[in-house]
Amino acid sequence: MEPIGIYVHVPFCAGKCPYCDFYSLRGGEAEYDAYTARAEGILRAGWGRAADTLYFGGGTPSLLGAGRLLRLVRAAKAGAALPDGAEITVEVNPSQDCAALLEALAAGGVTRVSIGMQSASEEELRALGRRHTADQALEAARRAVALGLETSLDLMVATPGQSWESLRRSAAACVETGARHLSAYLLKLEPGTAFAKDPPALPDEDEAADWYLRLGGFLESAGLRQYEISNFAAPGHEGRHNLKYWRCEEYAGVGPAAHSFLGGRRFYQPRGLRRFLDGGAPVDDGEGGGREEFAMLALRLREGLTAERWRRRFGEPSLPEAWLRRARKFVAPGWVECGLGFLRLTPRGFLLSNALMAEIFC
Ligand code: SF4
Repeated sequence: MEPIGIYVHVPFCAGKCPYCDFYSLRGGEAEYDAYTARAEGILRAGWGRAADTLYFGGGTPSLLGAGRLLRLVRAAKAGAALPDGAEITVEVNPSQDCAALLEALAAGGVTRVSIGMQSASEEELRALGRRHTADQALEAARRAVALGLETSLDLMVATPGQSWESLRRSAAACVETGARHLSAYLLKLEPGTAFAKDPPALPDEDEAADWYLRLGGFLESAGLRQYEISNFAAPGHEGRHNLKYWRCEEYAGVGPAAHSFLGGRRFYQPRGLRRFLDGGAPVDDGEGGGREEFAMLALRLREGLTAERWRRRFGEPSLPEAWLRRARKFVAPGWVECGLGFLRLTPRGFLLSNALMAEIFC
């Protein structure tokens, strides 16, 4: 059996960013302790499967502090036989003093950090309601790189007040830290968020699409190749945990709002810290890993859907001819590349991914 990934959702944040719809709440030391104890028990019990990636996301995992996070790392090592060389990632919010935290995480076996920078412009950070400065984020990234941690930075595209020039400067600042991975997300007005209720002025869709494509070109010239719709990395520095999602491999989720895909079934823990602490059962979300789901996830990756992976997963020698036939009409406009052994979206195709997938897999 292939090793699984483990995702730990840490639901605490110092405050709510106006664009964010992830499950998070303010907590204090008592909630952090109770959460850690419950998550530790689940991780130590394991799933009867070995894992080779562990990812702390949120929320703001770094709020737990190094002591609690490393307790959870040790529990996961005990419960899922994480080997030497396993990828262990912690999302870090640079609003806190990161120096001691990063040192303790690196010494405790964490291998990778993902830093929520979002922009190198102070005005843009303020418009996004972020609680850190650009310098804090860049300094955290430089320190993580110096400690030998794989380092990823998050950037947001098409934010209030942004221009192509300011986005390019933010991307250049990320590259200069030595980070070899960058995630870039187009800002969306998610229902229920403060931005959705009171929308700020945003760049228009055509402008945003143009910046996204130019950003890909800029990062490519800096040695960070686009390997997924929103992710760029130097070769060999791709995020192994997230690759499991896009390659439709199995993973276990721990924490409120965490999703799992195990034994061919998808299920999730509902939102709500209390319910998680009380041992509430996860909710079944049906069978997972079918042909269309596998194909749609693969098309998020620049490598796309390959006959080789298809054969290994489904035992069929070639990709379904009906999909290839429908995909071919999108080759001429430059949205799709396809041949006998592969089907993939181009960066321009990524901008239309939902519509293209609906046409190809209809
Ligand atoms: S810190 Fe991250 S998870 Fe928390 S509210 Fe802001 S964007 Fe959402």
